[in-house]
Amino acid sequence: CTSKKSHDPKPKPDPSTLVFGKQFSDHMLTIHWSEKGGWEAPQIKPFQNLSLHPATSALHYSVQLFEGMKAFRGADNHIRLFRPMLNMERMYRSADRCCLPAFDKQELLECIKKLIEVDQEWVPYSSNASLYIRPTYIGMEPSLGVSRSGQALLFVIVGPVGPYFATGTFNPVSLLADPRYVRACRGGVGAYKMGGNYGPTIAIQTEALRQGCQQVLWLYGEDEEITEVGTMNLFIYWTTEKGERELVTPPLDGIILPGVTRQSLLDLAREWGEFKVTERTVVMKEFLEALKAGRVREVFGAGTACVVCPVGSLLYKGQTYQIPTMQNGPELATRFFKELTDIQVSVFTCCP
Ligand SMILES: *Cc1c(COP(=O)(O)O)cnc(C)c1O
Repeated sequence: CTSKKSHDPKPKPDPSTLVFGKQFSDHMLTIHWSEKGGWEAPQIKPFQNLSLHPATSALHYSVQLFEGMKAFRGADNHIRLFRPMLNMERMYRSADRCCLPAFDKQELLECIKKLIEVDQEWVPYSSNASLYIRPTYIGMEPSLGVSRSGQALLFVIVGPVGPYFATGTFNPVSLLADPRYVRACRGGVGAYKMGGNYGPTIAIQTEALRQGCQQVLWLYGEDEEITEVGTMNLFIYWTTEKGERELVTPPLDGIILPGVTRQSLLDLAREWGEFKVTERTVVMKEFLEALKAGRVREVFGAGTACVVCPVGSLLYKGQTYQIPTMQNGPELATRFFKELTDIQVSVFTCCP
């Protein structure tokens, strides 16, 4: 891995003013691949624009994928990544589905750690801000044929991000559930973090805002399966008809993005062993019945950006339904949030 330092470092922003995804560090990692030459040596170089052939396949056919992960600075000043191999593995699966060449997951993680080391001053000195890491992998075939890319570029950019919630306060979100729209479909690529899954959601997200909601609850199919919320996995904590406490999230059956946070919450809840933990499909009808019967305790999204995000209401077919997540604490969401953020800043040891 060769490294060329920036001669012109940017001033670091105040962590309290950070807007997600708008600030970037001084360096980036790039690794080129071609059919002829294979992988070139990884390069860490000053943050800069890419130069692309106008026919680049990533631009025309969305031969593209990305990851999202964070590095945290602990109270001990050590910088840690949270379960980064899960991101490397997911990225590897996305690459395979995109017909982009395989890479060495461990090797890529080492390069990312090196980049973070170079830009370590960009990891906020704050317990609730972090460094967001965006690995990206694009097809660079300079041709309009819809075919496997003979050239590719894997790059990683990083930038400081603030807390999703101001300290100690959860803001519940309101959701629009409109069965006319789907995020992903069976047989499609919803289980992969490919750019093509996200661009088309912006119009629906805009529609949600127009209707006074903050995010979209994605439904699927005839029976309106509840799938995900915005770009987060969805969890429901309720009492079943039989009177048991249960945490339920949709199964990884092809239309759900296998979130690292989702997996971590399932792991934690199973380790606690205090209530039933189930991966199964829940449809709108069943959810609304439970809501009406007063059996729903908490609904929340889960993802790297916010860890957990409580849901407060739902607009569905012209009717607003209140969800008592906040009235119930939210006991479980808060416990997950505390437990996971504690692990993120204090248990795993890696990186410089
Ligand atoms: C990234 C993402 C998630 C959350 O995954 P994490 O690994 O927990 O950040 C959930 N759903 C969608 C659609 C996503 O893109």
